[in-house]
Amino acid sequence: MLDIPTLVKAQRAFFSSGKTRDVSFRIEALEKLRRVLIDREQDIAEALKKDFGKPFFESYTTEIGYVLGDIGHTIRGLKSWAKPRKVKTPLVLMPARSEIHYEPFGCTLIIAPWNYPFQLQISPLIGAIAAGNTAILKPSEVTKHTQKFINDVLQEIYPPEYIAGVGGAIPETQQLLEEKFDLIFFTGSTRVGRIVMEKAARNLTPVVLELGGKSPCIVDENVDLKTAARRIVWGKFMNASQTCVAPDYICIHANIYEQFLTQLKSTIVEFYGENPKTSDSYARIVNEPHFDRLLGLIDKAKLFHGGESDRSSRYIAPTILRDVSWTDKVMEDEVFGPIMPCFKYDNIDDLIKLINARPKPLSFYLFTKNKNLQEKVLRAVPFGGASVNDCVVHLANPELPFGGVGESGMGAYHGQYSFEVFSHKKSVLRKPFALDATMRYPPYTPFNLKLIRFFMK
Ligand code: NAD
Repeated sequence: MLDIPTLVKAQRAFFSSGKTRDVSFRIEALEKLRRVLIDREQDIAEALKKDFGKPFFESYTTEIGYVLGDIGHTIRGLKSWAKPRKVKTPLVLMPARSEIHYEPFGCTLIIAPWNYPFQLQISPLIGAIAAGNTAILKPSEVTKHTQKFINDVLQEIYPPEYIAGVGGAIPETQQLLEEKFDLIFFTGSTRVGRIVMEKAARNLTPVVLELGGKSPCIVDENVDLKTAARRIVWGKFMNASQTCVAPDYICIHANIYEQFLTQLKSTIVEFYGENPKTSDSYARIVNEPHFDRLLGLIDKAKLFHGGESDRSSRYIAPTILRDVSWTDKVMEDEVFGPIMPCFKYDNIDDLIKLINARPKPLSFYLFTKNKNLQEKVLRAVPFGGASVNDCVVHLANPELPFGGVGESGMGAYHGQYSFEVFSHKKSVLRKPFALDATMRYPPYTPFNLKLIRFFMK
C-alpha cells in the first residue's frame, strides 16, 4: 500500500493522463464494480453481519441491492448525462450557442460512516467514477469487517492510482485531510463535518457534507392508523435505528395519541415477536460506547414498551418512550438507536414553531390524508427530503436529490445528481465571426445604449 502523500500524487498523475475523461472507461470501471459485487454478495453480507448483526434481508435491500440498482441506473444514463447540455442564449448575445460541459473535479476523497458502511461508501464512489474522477475512499473503522471488504475489493479491481481504499481510523482520516483534494465528499456526524470543512477551507476545496440530525415525524389524526404504524416502525427499527434518515421522534395528534401508541406497540410485536432478541429481522448496536450512550437515553419513568437490553450481544429492544418533553435528554441529539420518543400535540402551528426552533433536519415525515395540511406543513418546515405517509423511502428514488440543509449538510447526490455533484459545470458560449453586432463597442453612444436597453429587457 502506498503512503498517503504518494497515493494522492499518483492519483493526480493518473487523472492528468486523461484516461478517466473517456466515458467508456468510466462505464467499464462501473461494470467491473458491478461484476465483483454480484460475485461477492455473500461476503459483503457476512462482513455486515459480523459488524453489527445486520439481517441478510436488510443487507440486501439497503446496501447490496441498493448499490447494484445505483450502478445499473448510472450505466444506463451516463452517456446522455455526460454530454454537453445546450441552454438558451439571450437575444442581446446573439448570434451564439450556450452550453454546459461537465468536467471531473480531479482527485476526490470520500469519507464514510459506519451505519450503512457499504452503501454510503460505494454509492458516492459510483458518482465519482461516473463523473471521471479518481477517488480515495476512507471506510469507517468502526465497522472493520466491511472496511476490510471494501478495501480488498477495490485493490482487486482497480489500480491504486485510480481508486484506492485507505484503512486505519481517525489518525488516517486526519492525515488524508492534510492533503489537497479537488473535492471532499463526507458522510457522518455534524461535529466531524465541521472539522472536514475547516480542513478543506485551507485549500478552498469544495465539500459535500451529508450529515445527521433529528428527523421529526408528525402523525395527524386523519390517518390510517395501522399502515402509519407499520411504516413508522419499519423506518425506525430497521438497522436497529442506526439510520441517518430514521424518524427520530414522533409527534402524535392528541385525538389519537393513546390509540396510536398501542398500535405502535402491537406492530413491534407483529414485526419482531414478543422477544425481538430472538428475531432474525433485528440488528444489533454497533459497539459498546454506542450501547452505553443509548441506555443512558432510556428514562424508565417514561417507558411505554421495550427497554430490555443485553450488553454481551449489544442488544437493545425496540423501545417506545411516551410523554417525552422537548427538554428531555433523548431530545438533545440524534437518537441513532432503537428508542422512539413520542409525544402528544394538539396545535399544528405550535408544533411547527417547536420543530423550526431546532436545526434543519435531514428528513421529515408527515402522516395525514389531509391534502391542505400536507401543503401547509411541507411549505412551513425546512428539511433535506421528506416522505409523506411513509418513512425513509424518498431516498430510494434516484430521480430525487438526497442531501441535507443547514446543519444536516450541503450538496445532494443519488442518480444523476451524483454525477452532477462530482462534476464541475463549465459554461461555454460559442460565437461565430459573422454578424458582429457593434453596438457594445466604444466609442459609446446614446443610440447604442438605447439599443442595448431594448435588447436587455
Ligand atoms: P463520524 O462523523 O463519527 O465518522 C465519520 C467518518 O469520519 C469516519 O470515517 C471517521 O473515521 C471519521 N472521523 C471521525 N472523527 C474524526 C476526526 N476527529 N477527524 C477526522 N475524521 C474523523 O460519524 P459516524 O459515527 O460514523 O456516523 C454517524 C453519523 O453520520 C450520524 O450523525 C448520522 O446521522 C450521520 N449520517 C449521515 C448520513 C447522510 O446521508 N446524511 C448517512 C449516514 C450517517
